[in-house]
Amino acid sequence: MNQRSRTSNPTEPADVVIVGGGMGGLLLALILGRGGRTVTIIERQPKLQPIARGELLQPNGLRILDRLGLLDRLKTLPAYRAHRFDFHRIGGRKLCTVDYRTLPPPWNYTLITRPHHLLSLLLEQLEQTGCVRLLTETDFQELLLQHNRIIGIRAVQNGRPIELRTSLVIGSDGSYSKVRQAMGIRSHLHAYREGYLTMVVPRPPGFSNDARYYVGCGQILGLFPVSDSELYLFYMIRAADWEEIKQRRVAAVTAAIAEIDTALAESLRSVTSWDQVGYMPCVRVRAERWTANGIALIGDAAHAMNPHVAQGRNQAMEDAVVLAEVIQNGFASGALRGTQLNRYEQERRPPVERLQRMGDELTVLWNTALPPLAWFRDRIFEGMERHPEVRERVVKTISGLEIRPMGIFDRLRVFMP
Ligand SMILES: Cc1cc2nc3c(=O)[nH]c(=O)nc-3n(C[C@H](O)[C@H](O)[C@H](O)COP(=O)(O)OP(=O)(O)OC[C@H]3O[C@@H](n4cnc5c(N)ncnc54)[C@H](O)[C@@H]3O)c2cc1C
Repeated sequence: MNQRSRTSNPTEPADVVIVGGGMGGLLLALILGRGGRTVTIIERQPKLQPIARGELLQPNGLRILDRLGLLDRLKTLPAYRAHRFDFHRIGGRKLCTVDYRTLPPPWNYTLITRPHHLLSLLLEQLEQTGCVRLLTETDFQELLLQHNRIIGIRAVQNGRPIELRTSLVIGSDGSYSKVRQAMGIRSHLHAYREGYLTMVVPRPPGFSNDARYYVGCGQILGLFPVSDSELYLFYMIRAADWEEIKQRRVAAVTAAIAEIDTALAESLRSVTSWDQVGYMPCVRVRAERWTANGIALIGDAAHAMNPHVAQGRNQAMEDAVVLAEVIQNGFASGALRGTQLNRYEQERRPPVERLQRMGDELTVLWNTALPPLAWFRDRIFEGMERHPEVRERVVKTISGLEIRPMGIFDRLRVFMP
C-alpha cells in the first residue's frame, strides 16, 4: 500500500477534501487513505459526542465492515446482535415477526449499536493510514473554482478563515448540506410531519432478547437492545409539537411510554431530565444531481430517507465504497473527470430511490393516526405473518442485500386469508 504521511500544515493540498465527518465521510476517507490517497476531512463539531440513541447496522453495512476487516473489532464494542423484530399493536396483539435468519449467512442478523462506537472505531483506523487528516471545528463556507474547475474550498476554523487546495471535493455534510447548495443543484428537502424522541435506558430484567416495535394510532414506540445492559428506545412525536413538549416535565413523556409497555416503568425512572433525551427530526432529500466536475455528494447530503427503512447510514457506507472505487480508478488513469463521477451516481441512484419510496409508503401506514388506515396496516402485518415468502422479500429489502420492495401481487397476497 502506498501510504504518504501528512505534515501538520492544515492548509497542505490534498487529493480529496471531504466535508463532514459522519459515517459516509469517515468511511470514504478510510478506504481512500488505505489506498494511499491524501485526504483532508473537515468537521464542524469539536469532537465526537455520545448521543442518546442507537442505530441498526443492516446486513449490507455489516458486509462492508467485514470486507474492510472492521466487523470483528466492532463486535468487541458494546453492540447487540438482533435476529428478530416483533411488531405489536399498542394495547393489543402481536402482529408479525420479521426474522433475519431467513437470509443467507454470514450476514443474517443486524447489529444494533450506538453510533459513536462505530465512528470512534473509524477514527482510530484513520490514524493508522497516515494519509488522512481531520480538521475539527471547521465549517465549510464555499467552493473555490478556477475556469469552472474545482481548486479547493474555503472554510472557517475556530472563527479563522482557511483555504484548502484540492481538485476533488466530497459533500458528506448531511441533509442540510452546504456543499449541495454551493453546487447550485436543484433539490427538494421534505420534512416529515413526525420526528422521534430517543433515549438509552437500563435494559429491564427479563426483557426479551429481540427488538420490539409497537404501532398504534399516531403512536410508535421502538425498543432495541444496544448492549447486554442498555436499551435504545425511540418514541414518535409530531415535529410541530416538539417545542411545546420540551416545556413540560420529561416525566410526562416517560409516563406515556411506560403505558405502552409497563415492563419499562422502572428503567424509565433513570430519565430525569431532557438532557438525557435526543430529538431526531426526519427529512427526505431528493437532489437533481449528486455529481459535478470535481464534486460529489454522498449519504444524507445526496439522499436522506425516512428512518423506517433503517438504511440511511448503511446507504452512506454503500456510497463510500462505490465512490472510492471510481475515485481510485480515476486517479490511476491520470485525471478524474466529471463523467467518471457520474458512474457512481448511475450505480447508486436506483437502489436509493427504491428505498426512499418504500420509506414514504411505510410512513403513511405506520405513522397513521386514522383508525381505518391503522386497521389496514395491521392486516398487512398479519398477512405478512401468514406469508413467509413475502416476509422474506421484505427482510431482503430492509437488509439492503436485495432491494425489491413489495409489489402489487405481494400486497394482494397478504390480504388473502
Ligand atoms: C430517528 C432516526 C433513526 C435512524 N436510524 C437509522 C438506523 O437504524 N440505521 C441507519 O442506517 N440509519 C438510520 N438513520 C439515518 C442515519 O442516521 C443517517 O442516514 C446517517 O447518519 C447519514 O450519515 P452521513 O454521514 O451522510 O451524514 P451525517 O451523519 O449527518 O454526518 C454529517 C456530518 O457533517 C457535519 N457537517 C455538517 N455541515 C458541515 C459543514 N458546513 N462543515 C463541516 N462539517 C459539517 C456534521 O457535523 C456531521 O458530523 C436514522 C435517522 C433518524 C432521523
